[in-house]
Amino acid sequence: MRGLYVHIPFCRSKCGYCDFASAAGQEDRIDDYLAALAREASAYSGLAGSFGTLYIGGGTPSLLSAAQLEKLFAALAPLTGPVAGLAESTFEANPESLDAHKAALLKSAGLNRISLGLQAWQDALLKKLGRIAMNSDFLKAYRALRAAGFANISADLMCGLPGQSLADFTLSLERLLDLKPEHVSLYALEVHENTPFGAAGVKEAPEEAAAMYEAAAGLLKRAGLPRYEISNFARPGRASAHNLNYWDQGEYLGLGAAAASYLGGERRANTADTAAYARAAISGAEIPLQYRETLSGRAIRAEKLMLGLRKTAGIELQDDIIIEFKEETRRLLAAGLVEMNGRTLRIKEDRLYVSNAVFREFV
Ligand code: SF4
Repeated sequence: MRGLYVHIPFCRSKCGYCDFASAAGQEDRIDDYLAALAREASAYSGLAGSFGTLYIGGGTPSLLSAAQLEKLFAALAPLTGPVAGLAESTFEANPESLDAHKAALLKSAGLNRISLGLQAWQDALLKKLGRIAMNSDFLKAYRALRAAGFANISADLMCGLPGQSLADFTLSLERLLDLKPEHVSLYALEVHENTPFGAAGVKEAPEEAAAMYEAAAGLLKRAGLPRYEISNFARPGRASAHNLNYWDQGEYLGLGAAAASYLGGERRANTADTAAYARAAISGAEIPLQYRETLSGRAIRAEKLMLGLRKTAGIELQDDIIIEFKEETRRLLAAGLVEMNGRTLRIKEDRLYVSNAVFREFV
């Protein structure tokens, strides 16, 4: 089964650290964008019915009005069939734009999983990040989702933030765990040049972030959400099927500006220029691409290995990978970064935070 990703590149305002393809203050462009998505989706009618998961991400998909959400689901229906029939369908939301009405609408549209951005519990930290929603907004949105019947909620948390102590971080996580989410994603702050944080010279704090990751792994495991991927933790049966498909090098179609696809051995990504994307899609012209490449041979095997090693379960090695990466694997085993059990290679749990050192071997 393939995954279907749909990108909604609109946000109410831009967070200080944000390097994602999204823009603020362009709500007047959303309707055109949805028309473009419908056109792009119709070009893939040959894949109708082949999707097992749907992920509507952004940006801030919850920024869409009820009428716009209806348009979006109508555009996707020819590809997905009834959303309720999919194994997993995730919708990304930010608390400030998710109320009880929208939660009920998402539920009745058949979505079965919501990813809600928390980032930190302390309002002072949220303000520093440039977030609109404060912790009371998160609580309100979370309760609205539960009241609407969502039994699978994921929350995003960040670590290594400027001015964030280990105690701040563990408090954020403990308060979040009090709410009993099914899934938690944890990201260390990365500072990119083209962001307000980059311009202001905000520094990353890798050592502090590593200590927070370690504390989180213990807390989450004790709470019944063991880690299943470098940055992701879930209750049994609640790991993200959509993302596992990426890490298993499965096929996926991405619709929208900046969306990436992997189909028939080819990787490509649409232009991140929302206006150029919408113009091309609506007029039926070819959508400009950021890149298009076909991986083969060693590159595709290296990618399979690196993606698979992101999972705590590791990757079962096939003969071609064993032969091709014999030396690299031997070096990593000798350095104590990975372990082998039968044919399964995995990064040691206490080395996951330095997984880049492992991946460098295969590039
Ligand atoms: S809400 Fe998400 S996508 Fe939008 S600006 Fe903030 S971090 Fe970026």
